[in-house]
Amino acid sequence: MYDLIVIGTGPGGYHAAIRAAQLGLKVAAVEAGAVGGVCLNIGCIPTKALLHAAETLEMAGKAAEFGLVYAEPERDLAKMGRWRDKVVKKLTSGVASLLKANGVELVRGFARFAGPHELEVDGKKLEAKKIIIATGSKPATLAGFEPDGENVLTSTEMLRVESGIPERLLVIGGGVIGLEFASIYARLGAAVTVVEYTDQILPGSDPELVKLLARSLKKQGIAIKTSTRAVGYEKVKEGLRVTVEPAAGGEQEVLEASKILLAVGRVPVTEGLNLEAAGVRTDERGFVPTNQHMETNVPGVYAIGDVTRPPLLAHKAMKEGLVAAEHAAGKPAEFDQQIPAAVYTHPEFASVGMTEAEARERGIEVAVGRFPLSASGRALTLQQTEGMVKVIADAESDLLLGVHILGPGASDLIAEAALALEMAATATDLALTVHPHPTLSENLMEAAENLHGEAIHILNRR
Ligand code: FAD
Repeated sequence: MYDLIVIGTGPGGYHAAIRAAQLGLKVAAVEAGAVGGVCLNIGCIPTKALLHAAETLEMAGKAAEFGLVYAEPERDLAKMGRWRDKVVKKLTSGVASLLKANGVELVRGFARFAGPHELEVDGKKLEAKKIIIATGSKPATLAGFEPDGENVLTSTEMLRVESGIPERLLVIGGGVIGLEFASIYARLGAAVTVVEYTDQILPGSDPELVKLLARSLKKQGIAIKTSTRAVGYEKVKEGLRVTVEPAAGGEQEVLEASKILLAVGRVPVTEGLNLEAAGVRTDERGFVPTNQHMETNVPGVYAIGDVTRPPLLAHKAMKEGLVAAEHAAGKPAEFDQQIPAAVYTHPEFASVGMTEAEARERGIEVAVGRFPLSASGRALTLQQTEGMVKVIADAESDLLLGVHILGPGASDLIAEAALALEMAATATDLALTVHPHPTLSENLMEAAENLHGEAIHILNRR
């Protein structure tokens, strides 16, 4: 009998297993696929490796501005693929070693519940006092665009750049995954069009910054069609003919493509788990709801990561894993943190906390500070002056409510804002903190100063 079994070794599962082992529990982790889950094998890590490779190509072109002229770069896509795999392998084998070194028993196979404390793994019975479900998510489907591995691809197939760069790529879905692949393939030479059903890419994100991002992406040659619904496609001799129409209805249009990437979101993975045997409920969208301790409706059975609720992000899964493991070990752990989000486009986009619109919807009187990257010395030295930092605070208390960054390094810079929100900092705290010069982090400080009409490097309009 184990103290705890974790189903799945993605970022949520392996964090939970290691923390539980650190706390002295006897732990097993069951994995049906590859250790490291979606994030390490076919998600966060391989995409970032390819984004880096593709961005290097673009930066080489920009170096001519300061007198470094490279010969026309040669693209060896097979080598790029091998490099991506090397990065993935290093990290996944690192996770396997960490599980082992912490005394977590790795059980290979597909787990299904036989009861609230009992699992069956490929015919073998395993018993545990507590169980954590960390089975993750898979791509959502769209009628008329069933992935077939040839014409309509998911993010998993798109990672295989060595299969070739399509002449024309049509991306259905202007969310994070769609935009990251659009960036990779546009830089590698594809003519990319992104079709998004809602009225902006990155639905729900700050529209002011999203507009700037859309402008940058268009300059990079990525065509964006918002408020547009993909209806269906047909294969013809020259490639694919994709029919789209205005989301509100209206005249249809046909777009030519060589491949289609379906990136319309992800859905939780629970099929085959036999949750009924444990009495665990799912909601109408298939997610496994939990309380603040990540415990499901069945005491002692937890759910973490993509399987439990949006946002579907690795760092959310990781922290939820720690909470579930600590609670299972008898500690008073709860999840109530801010969850930052990052998009690794060029420029990057990252945010934490409320958008201006969300704050206003809640009836809060907001104060907004902005700082454009065109006024940042560091951004200029990096040849990356497109973007803006936007800081939202409560106009009365000065309490920070949200920070949104479009610009280089946004995915790293947002951590300062996340800490500020966790510490209940005010815009004044951010403005008074000494930031090193010249850095991109100064832009956060200047945006906070601008909120009070006191930024130095721009004219403050109130
Ligand atoms: P997963 O990583 O999905 O792992 C679940 C594991 O459970 C899998 O290994 C699976 O084999 C196993 N499993 C499932 N069912 C069973 C069963 N019955 N028995 C045994 N094992 C089972 N997030 C970010 O934060 N940053 C990013 O940059 C980012 N980039 C992404 C890029 C792409 C292309 C994709 C697809 C996703 C990206 N994500 C990113 C999202 C991130 O990958 C997920 O949020 C994260 O992997 C969720 O972790 P998890 O532990 O919940 O589950």
